[in-house]
Amino acid sequence: MKVTRTGLLLFSMLLLINCSTNPFTGKKTIAFVSNDKLLPMSFQQYNQVLTESKIITNTDQSEMIKRVGYKIQVAAERWLDANGYQGYTNNYKWDYNLIDEDIVNAWAMPGGKVAFYTGILPIAENERGVALIMGHEVAHALANHGQQRMSKGILQQAVAVGGAIGMSQTDMSPEAQQGIMLAYGMGSQGLIMAYSRKHETEADRIGIMLMAIAGYDPTDAYTLWERMAAASKGDQPPVFLSTHPSHETRIENLKNWATEAKETAKKFGVTDFK
Ligand SMILES: [Zn+2]
Repeated sequence: MKVTRTGLLLFSMLLLINCSTNPFTGKKTIAFVSNDKLLPMSFQQYNQVLTESKIITNTDQSEMIKRVGYKIQVAAERWLDANGYQGYTNNYKWDYNLIDEDIVNAWAMPGGKVAFYTGILPIAENERGVALIMGHEVAHALANHGQQRMSKGILQQAVAVGGAIGMSQTDMSPEAQQGIMLAYGMGSQGLIMAYSRKHETEADRIGIMLMAIAGYDPTDAYTLWERMAAASKGDQPPVFLSTHPSHETRIENLKNWATEAKETAKKFGVTDFK
């Protein structure tokens, strides 16, 4: 039997395919990397970013990031529990940090690893704005959006290097590292990969719901994207907009979904929004 190089490559790729379920849509998604492999890589990469960045601690702003992050985490876990996904975040190690850097960006990596940059705070404007961004980013992570993007990235790299994929926790290849950076919107050095419109819409809808369950009033949440659009008129468009491309219907959607989000929150006993 003749075994071709392409055949071998296809076979090794099949071994890496996993199915995961998006808990918010109930739909199966194909992932080329399982959570068992992904989370250790994510935690390692997150620690590296923290080591290389100036982390702000014990200020009103850094405390706010941690407070909002924790509330969104609790909201997400309550929603998952109530919808048949108990234990979905068991392997998560939630963490929320504020990085002292004047870039308009925020991201969440698999396993609940969140970073905000000081440059996005003026656009967030207040704690509600931070809650919307936090909800949106956590939604991308929970729905495995980045995982699907990284899968493509790693696949392309696997083809490029002829099927050699080295990605154990202690020996992550530079290709895998870059795949993670790209997949999760951590592109502060010109590494940009945009989420698809479908993923953006999904993250908006989940994010505004998590925000409301966390007790934040979603009524004027849409104004965040007006401020984001205004900021993009300068000579340096926000990194956040490059990785999270906006579209005309986003603001209209968020206006419409605010009521729905409050109704969902009421089912969790949340009736007082601040
Ligand atoms: Zn997004």
